[in-house]
Amino acid sequence: MLKLYVTAFFLSLSGLVSGQSLSAVEKKVLATARQIQPETEQFLEKVVNVNSGTLNLEGVRENGRLMAAEFEKLGFKTEWVPLPDSLGRAGHLVATRQGNRGKKLFLIGHLDTVFEKSLPFDPFTRVNDSTAAGQGANDMKGGDVLIIAALKALHAHGLLDDTSITVYFTGDEESGGGPESRRDFIERARKCDLALAFEGAQGLTHVTTGRRGSSSWTLKIASRTGHSSRIFSDLGYGAIFEAARILNEFRRALGQEKYLTFNPGLIVGGSDVRYDAASAKAETSGKTNIVAPVALVKGDLRFISEAQKESARARMREIVEKSLPLTKATITFEDGIPAMEPSDKNENLRKVVDQLSRDMGLGPVLSGDPGARGAGDVSFVAQYLPCLDGLGASGRGAHSIEETINLKEYPLLIQRAALLIYRLTK
Ligand SMILES: [Zn+2]
Repeated sequence: MLKLYVTAFFLSLSGLVSGQSLSAVEKKVLATARQIQPETEQFLEKVVNVNSGTLNLEGVRENGRLMAAEFEKLGFKTEWVPLPDSLGRAGHLVATRQGNRGKKLFLIGHLDTVFEKSLPFDPFTRVNDSTAAGQGANDMKGGDVLIIAALKALHAHGLLDDTSITVYFTGDEESGGGPESRRDFIERARKCDLALAFEGAQGLTHVTTGRRGSSSWTLKIASRTGHSSRIFSDLGYGAIFEAARILNEFRRALGQEKYLTFNPGLIVGGSDVRYDAASAKAETSGKTNIVAPVALVKGDLRFISEAQKESARARMREIVEKSLPLTKATITFEDGIPAMEPSDKNENLRKVVDQLSRDMGLGPVLSGDPGARGAGDVSFVAQYLPCLDGLGASGRGAHSIEETINLKEYPLLIQRAALLIYRLTK
C-alpha cells in the first residue's frame, strides 16, 4: 500500500515538470502545434468573421467550405450532408479518413452560431494578449479550428497515416432541425469506437463526462365554467386553480431531485386561450366574475438519464390525474435531446485525458458538474459509444454579445487535443 502511494506521489510530481513524461514523437507534435499557432488564430479570425447563424444557411455553408478545404489538405475526404428543404437547415460537413490503426474516432463540432444575421455583427477583435472577442469565438468556431490545428500538427509528422477519423460538424446545433437532421450523424457515430466533442472547455482542468438531456411538456386543463359565485360548489374549482395545484405539486414532489429540473415557461388561463407555437406567443381573455374554463402551461424538463426522465414523467402524470372536482387535465411530453449519462466508459476516457494532462505538466483533469451543462450534439450518440465533451476552446459569455475566447489556454488545449488523438489512434 505504502509503495503504491510513493509511486503515485512521484508520478504526480513528475507531471509537474513540463513534457517530462512525453515521448520524443509527442514533443515534436507539440513543437509543430506551437509553430503553427499564429496561422491557427488567423484562420479562427477568418471563420468568426463569416456570420453563420443557424438560419443563415449560406453563411453556415460558407463556413463549412472554408473548413472543408483545411481537411482536404490533411488528406481527409469531405462531403456535405444535405437536408430536405422543409427542415430549413443548411446541412452538415463530414470529413473522413479510413485506416486500421488504433481506435476509430468520431470528432464533433458545429458550424452554426446563435447569432443570426439580423443581429448587429461583432467581428473578431483582439481585446488583449490573452483574450479575443467575436461571435462563435468559443462556441464553437474555436473548437472547430482547434480540431483542425490538432490534426494539422499530427499530419506534419505522418501520424494520421492509417488512422480512422470521422469529423462531423453539424450545421444546426444551436437550433436543431429535428430527428431527421441527426439520423446520418448517429449512423456514422455508431461505426466508430469513441466520440470526442469540442464544445467550450471549462479551461484545462475539467472535461464533460455527462450532460443533461432536455425535453418539453404541455399541460392543458379544462373545467366547467359559469358565474364566479359558484366556484367551490357546483362548478368545481376552475382551470386556473387546477393549474396552480398541479404546478405546486410538481415542485413539491420533484423539485429537489438531483439533476432534475422542470421549468414552466409560459402559462395562460381564462375564458379563451390561443397559443402560437411558431412565435411562442399566447393570447387569453377572461373576467374576474367568470370561472375560467381553460388553462395552458408549457415547460421544459431536464434530466441526467432516460430512467430519470421516464420516472419524472410518470410521477407528473400521476399528479395531473388527481384532478380537482369538475376539472380535467392532460399532460403531453415531447422528446428533445437525450442525456449523456455519466458512465464508466466515459470516465475511462477522462482518465486518458487526465494522464495526458499530467504528462504535459498541466495537472489533473476532472469531470465537470453535469448539472451545470446544457444539452449538446454529443448527447445524441452517448448511449452508443464512450464519449467526452468540453475538449474545445475556453472563454466566456457564449450566446451573448460578450463572447470571448481565452487565447492563453487555446494553444495548450490544441496541443492536448493533438496528443489525445495521437494516443487514442496509436
Ligand atoms: Zn455550441
